[in-house]
Amino acid sequence: MKLHFLPANTGDSLVLEDDKNILVIDGGMPTTAAALRGIINGKNKKCTIVITHQDNDHIGGIVQFLKNRIPGEAFDFIVNMPDLHYFQSGNKVSVGDVNSLAGLLRSDDVIYPAVDGAVIEVGEFKLRIISPPRTVLNKYKSDFEELLSAERSEQQNISRKVSLAAKIVDCDIDKILNQRKPIKSDFINRTSIAMIVEANKKVMLFLGDAHPFDIDLALGKFLGKNEELQCDIVKISHHGSVHSTSSKWLERIRCRNYMISTNSAGAYDHPHAPVLGAIVRQAYLHDFSECNFFFNYERVKNAIQFVNVPYDFKVSAIFSNEIDIERL
Ligand SMILES: [Zn+2]
Repeated sequence: MKLHFLPANTGDSLVLEDDKNILVIDGGMPTTAAALRGIINGKNKKCTIVITHQDNDHIGGIVQFLKNRIPGEAFDFIVNMPDLHYFQSGNKVSVGDVNSLAGLLRSDDVIYPAVDGAVIEVGEFKLRIISPPRTVLNKYKSDFEELLSAERSEQQNISRKVSLAAKIVDCDIDKILNQRKPIKSDFINRTSIAMIVEANKKVMLFLGDAHPFDIDLALGKFLGKNEELQCDIVKISHHGSVHSTSSKWLERIRCRNYMISTNSAGAYDHPHAPVLGAIVRQAYLHDFSECNFFFNYERVKNAIQFVNVPYDFKVSAIFSNEIDIERL
């Protein structure tokens, strides 16, 4: 079982593969479609596609991939809102992509709705959907126009600086990363599918671009009181944004391997150093002797510098586009 960790520009595209099944989790930007095609073609494996949410850096590659669909090819899809293509609100924030996706589906494709509590089996992969909560989806549907304009205005306000300067990660274990309260412009990310995937005794947590408030809530619902989630690997939410991870939910995770998907380009300058610091803190406090960060771009990995690492602890940044899950 391996996990392809595709270069997806500013977005996400992960492909979990075993002998019989392919599970695509997001398609990155439209330019990622060719790499997806390269993995899927000629293998004759059942292919299931998860679209965590409708932002272009997650759905764009799927739409492009489906535009070049091979005749006779059918897929299973797991999406947060199967009826989203109902909205006809222009083409900002990738609503246009959702409408394109609807036009590219075939009658023999199967669509599974994902909402917290759902369990979906894909061959040997067991997907436990922990987010989005139904309340978030319902709010999104009822207040769609208002939430969309909040996201648009936030996008206009952010600076357009592009930076690949060294990112200094302070691993001081006393530093806590606080949890931002949800705001209106977080809403599309809040609809992200977050899920635990179990396969061959391995446990993987994929968080899409989910909000820390919802991740915390989801783990609280999924785990018993004082229980922790043991994971072999976690795909950190929203490209390592400081708004999407908090020490509060990290403390409930027992894991030493983390993936951050980004090329660091664009306005957001992902990943944010305090996120990596908070992850090191939780791995240390859980008595691991090391913590590994996987990056899908070598130049992002090269930009990371760790300081104040506890003397009995090892932190590694690893560039890899293919992770052997069995060896974690
Ligand atoms: Zn994203």
